[in-house]
Amino acid sequence: MSDNVNALPFFYGNITREEAESYLKPAGSDSGVYLLRQSRNYLGGFALSVSNLGRCYHYTIERQPNETYAIAGGKSHRSPVDVIDYHSQETDGLVCLLKKPCNRPKNMQPKVGPFEDLKEKLIREYVKQTWNLQGAALEQAIISQRPQLEKLIATTAHERMPWFHGTITREDSEPRLQHGPRVNGKFLIRQRDTKGSYALCLLHEGQVMHYRIDRDRSGKLSIPDGKKFDTLWQLVEHYSYKPDGLLRVLTEACPRPDGDISTNRGRRQKSHLPAKTAPPPAPISPFSPAPLAVSPAMPMDTGVYESPYADPDELRSSTVNRSQLFLEDGELGSGNFGTVLRGTYTMRKTKKPVAVKILKNDDSNPSVREEMLREANVMQQLDNPYIVRMIGICEAENLMLVMELAELGPLHKFLQKNKSTSMKNITELVHQVSMGMKYLEEHNFVHRDLAARNVLLVTQHYAKISDFGLSKAVAEEQNYYKAKAHGKWPVKWYAPECINYFKFSSKSDVWSFGVLMWEAFSYGQKPYKGMKGNDVMQMIESGQRMDSPPNCPPEMYELMRTCWTYKAEERPAFSIVEPRLREYYYDIAQ
Ligand code: AMP
Repeated sequence: MSDNVNALPFFYGNITREEAESYLKPAGSDSGVYLLRQSRNYLGGFALSVSNLGRCYHYTIERQPNETYAIAGGKSHRSPVDVIDYHSQETDGLVCLLKKPCNRPKNMQPKVGPFEDLKEKLIREYVKQTWNLQGAALEQAIISQRPQLEKLIATTAHERMPWFHGTITREDSEPRLQHGPRVNGKFLIRQRDTKGSYALCLLHEGQVMHYRIDRDRSGKLSIPDGKKFDTLWQLVEHYSYKPDGLLRVLTEACPRPDGDISTNRGRRQKSHLPAKTAPPPAPISPFSPAPLAVSPAMPMDTGVYESPYADPDELRSSTVNRSQLFLEDGELGSGNFGTVLRGTYTMRKTKKPVAVKILKNDDSNPSVREEMLREANVMQQLDNPYIVRMIGICEAENLMLVMELAELGPLHKFLQKNKSTSMKNITELVHQVSMGMKYLEEHNFVHRDLAARNVLLVTQHYAKISDFGLSKAVAEEQNYYKAKAHGKWPVKWYAPECINYFKFSSKSDVWSFGVLMWEAFSYGQKPYKGMKGNDVMQMIESGQRMDSPPNCPPEMYELMRTCWTYKAEERPAFSIVEPRLREYYYDIAQ
């Protein structure tokens, strides 16, 4: 998988073709010695360098839209390593078979390109500024949205580069390059139109040369007859080390006179670059970013990433004043305790849409009230973006539990109605659930009712765990909860030790998470359909497990099976399950 290539001893990262040749040279006349490096033109792509009879050959391994890898025109494979394995058996167009990896010298790590260096910083800045998040909420948002963020940053990062001057004319660009030191190779890029055409303007012996950069049908950028790139970023990187048809290499970025760029979006971006009069202090490397300006928003709702009380001006209190709570007609759902209504909670600075669990006035059953207060007590101690937060308890005409609203409702119902939801989208959501569960595990809480019906969706791309009615805090040293007696239990979601010994731990939540994954990847089907609880228990005891849902990615079914490991001590914890899901999700979402 592409994410794991860093661990391959023959992967060199962002090195040039020439550097690759220098590593392969000692192989001399041996044929089939090879190394893998990162593609400098294509996002997520690789290059394979092979030596044969004293010469080096380079092949681009492109990442294809269906998430496979192939040497242009060749067979598709699931990973770059599979491409290499295949060509160690078949030449199939290659100059020779791949015989021996050329491993990195001792202590050398794969080379990180200037973009990778910057990417982290830009992603962090972006999330901080556009979503207004900080601390743990910021970290969690970055983890769950990383693939989308990486794409966004890669395709818009040029807007933050000092060499990107936006939609200025050819005439305007020339005095900018002539101003200040007239260094050969000083350059800028301007936007020519709204269809993705740009121009590279380059100072050469006191004259400004203009090269068109056009976008082809597949979205790739190139100067006429030149190499193709996914981003302006990579184009600048390439021509900064090699003229490759230009009159000379790019040396120094011509800084924008003020930080303002006008782009095709008709937006004026504010930046904190020095004012017009301030002299540029030192030559600007093509890759030092201008202070970050706010970019187009990601298509997602982030309002509920952070606690409603994250703003210090909002006083935290576990009780909600009835006068600040407005209840709307229309139920969001119901249970044996009563109903859940949508409402609005007026806080000091904002109004929040909320879900309100309303206990029905039924004096005959006081235990329901206790159960609801217990649930409130657990929820009050939790604060994670992937767990429905409690806002407070309101004692008025009824006892009410005020919570964050997760508008799209339970996961299984959403998937039953939306069968076109992609596997990538489902993986994203179950990964978020695993992040919430990892948090519970770290804080010694067991959920005890983890199921797709108790995962609520804020948006199609944002899931939160709910329903803490059965949840328990467990002692750190004991780490399990022992129920006194069998109750009204969701047996099909329960691990064997829950049923046999009434023992509940984060590991038994992992078992339930496997069932939840099965529900999600089967679009909200009922697990063990048509079977009675006793039959399910027998099936599990006999070593059988549910089959894979149709079209479920094998990696995901494999993970479900691991969650259904019979012995709790051999079952993985959420600290293992979450990174496995994360890795798979990043891999398919790139
Ligand atoms: P519960 O008993 O907590 O499972 O709640 C019953 C139903 O009410 C759920 O299945 C949801 O349809 C709805 N519901 C509960 N909490 C929320 C919430 N925070 N946001 C939106 N709907 C909710």
